[in-house]
Amino acid sequence: MTADLVPGCYSCDIQAMERIPAREDVVHTDHWRAALAFNSTLPGWLVVVPARHVTSYAELSEEAAAELGGLLHRLSRALEEVTGCVKVYLMQFAEAEGYSHLHVHVVPRAADHPPEAKGPRVFSFLADDEADWFTESDRDALAARIRAALP
Ligand SMILES: [Zn+2]
Repeated sequence: MTADLVPGCYSCDIQAMERIPAREDVVHTDHWRAALAFNSTLPGWLVVVPARHVTSYAELSEEAAAELGGLLHRLSRALEEVTGCVKVYLMQFAEAEGYSHLHVHVVPRAADHPPEAKGPRVFSFLADDEADWFTESDRDALAARIRAALP
């Protein structure tokens, strides 16, 4: 583990793994890694995290900041192709207990998305109950499809 990672931080612990599973490594660049959100009940919900422990945009290096726009653009295109969504939501809070590591939510919004879950209320698709989550193998398979669709 490098000095840039914080043990016990979810994103840092994944980053430190010798072999990161597909669901946690849809794609990575020099400074970022895209993962499928483990607790989403909406297929294709991605989080994009810096490869080092950062809790605010202001802490990002110039290089990391510059790289983010292109990566979000590529992921949005891939999500539209794979999920058929009509737009992609982008959100960043990093406020949940134990999840202060900066993470940008990249969320496909389908044409038939329920109106009561549009905008910030899309977070109703994140579930506390593990029984509601997609299985690891389902997430690995979807991650491979998104990766294959990346421009
Ligand atoms: Zn971290």
